[in-house]
Amino acid sequence: MTNNAIKKKVRGILDYYLVRNKHRKTPERYAILDAVYSFDGHFTLEELGKLLESRNFRVSRATLYNTMKLFIELRLVVRHRFIGQTKYEGCYKNENHIHQVCTVCGSVDEILSPEIVSAISATRFHRFHKDGFTLYIYGVCAKCQRRLSRPKNSNSDKDKKEQKTK
Ligand SMILES: [Zn+2]
Ligand SMILES: [Zn+2]
Repeated sequence: MTNNAIKKKVRGILDYYLVRNKHRKTPERYAILDAVYSFDGHFTLEELGKLLESRNFRVSRATLYNTMKLFIELRLVVRHRFIGQTKYEGCYKNENHIHQVCTVCGSVDEILSPEIVSAISATRFHRFHKDGFTLYIYGVCAKCQRRLSRPKNSNSDKDKKEQKTK
């Protein structure tokens, strides 16, 4: 699916919801949805606000927050609560990747894992219709591994030196 086809599809989902619930079709909601699906990957509310601003749409933080809440309910957006940061992601037809989360610094990388993705789509669910998935793999990133192992090494170097001088 092309990005434009996805944008059209998610607009349709929002349309359907707004009409069915007799909500007003405010242009803001559509502008926000379009911006969400213009990001390639995760983004913060600030980044979303900036993108909208660059498109001459000024939206308050409260409106952004509430709109994202609605999109999450409609399963158009997932919210990632990572250490010290909340990020969002358009999740419609966006299941080609999994998330690598560092439990020390909180950094998140998206990695492609066709094996896992195809294993999940091949999984048979019991009395359950699957809509989608978000997967997190927790661990320690390379940077933190280096940082965590460094002090130990330098201590043992010092120990060795001290032993030599004795
Ligand atoms: Zn992601
Ligand atoms: Zn880390």
